[in-house]
Amino acid sequence: MSLVAHSLDVIKSLQAPSGAYPASPTFSAYRGYSWLRDGAFIAEGVSRHGDVTGADAFHAWCARVVSDRAGQVDVLVSRAARGEAVTAAEMLPTRFTLDGVDGDDDWWDFQLDGYGTWLWALREHVVRHGGAVAGAEKGVRTAVRYLTAFWQVPCYDWWEEHVEHRHVATLGSIHAGLRAAVALGVLSPAESAAATEAVEGIAGLVAREGVSGQAAGGPGSGGPGSGGPGSGGPGGQGHLRKWLGSDAVDGSLLACVEPFGLYPAGHPVGEATVAEVERQLARDGGVYRYLDDTFYGGGRWLLLAGFLGWNHARAGRRAEAGRYLEWMAAQATPAGDLPEQVSDLLLAPERRQEWLDRWGPVATPLLWSHGMYLILADELGVTA
Ligand code: BGC
Repeated sequence: MSLVAHSLDVIKSLQAPSGAYPASPTFSAYRGYSWLRDGAFIAEGVSRHGDVTGADAFHAWCARVVSDRAGQVDVLVSRAARGEAVTAAEMLPTRFTLDGVDGDDDWWDFQLDGYGTWLWALREHVVRHGGAVAGAEKGVRTAVRYLTAFWQVPCYDWWEEHVEHRHVATLGSIHAGLRAAVALGVLSPAESAAATEAVEGIAGLVAREGVSGQAAGGPGSGGPGSGGPGSGGPGGQGHLRKWLGSDAVDGSLLACVEPFGLYPAGHPVGEATVAEVERQLARDGGVYRYLDDTFYGGGRWLLLAGFLGWNHARAGRRAEAGRYLEWMAAQATPAGDLPEQVSDLLLAPERRQEWLDRWGPVATPLLWSHGMYLILADELGVTA
């Protein structure tokens, strides 16, 4: 069986009756939970390969779990509007049980990116396959009210770390999600205006504080090869930063170029971001999350190889994209399952054992890895 077929099979067979995608069926710390971030990219992968029913069910599940929390969102938004402090613990969760309930295990449970990524993936699916996902409207509007009220608040990043910072990949996810929600055409005029204002606010903030070197031209400004403001200093074109004010890069920034288009392929900042992430974090086909990573010793992540390949494909560099797809496939277990990360070339080998002791072997299969394989395969026309 091809890896495309096996990936579809893994994802379909593990999708819960509720529509939720478990992150990884047996991994101790993820078992029983679905993340909006993982699930959105998994749904995008299967949607591209014709599993319309599976993607529909996931999006309907998301719409339900978010709309179930409309009351909580309205209370949070009114409190924030009155100037009251709202704590991270009171916000919507990062992950849900497969039945859509908040979990009671401790977690780094305040991340805004997944709500934006879900809206982005929903729109991609609707545009691709037509029609609307039944009952999604209330969930979309609730997510938009939540994100427009809180996009400026620091929260945990894609890797569930550094709650004190504003992460550029998180801002990119929200930017894409709010644009998608406006385009879906289900918002009230006031919601649409607030979402548009937030999109502009994010673009301005990232241009001012999220790009290395001198201030960059705003997202969308400049064209391929354009110089001028934002071209960076002697060190070259500025690239996106891991968080506002940081000097580091992070693999998650790849998504801010393609697919989120905060600075799309062809924009100098987008090009510089992909190049700098590849220069610092890619090694022999695999991609590290960030240089200081110590989780399971800091291995190379399959899903990030998927994002880097996706960026190369969108920029017309098909041969490079193909190398990342091949590397992903080469990490499959004999049964064809894709892990979260591989542990051969570790950044911090001395830190691996503590994670093995705490949570057991690396999550395998990780459905997000399979989802990214499906996306990159589709970008390259690999269907079976
Ligand atoms: C990663 C997250 C991911 C989660 C579930 C965590 O280890 O940091 O990005 O959403 O696993 O796959």
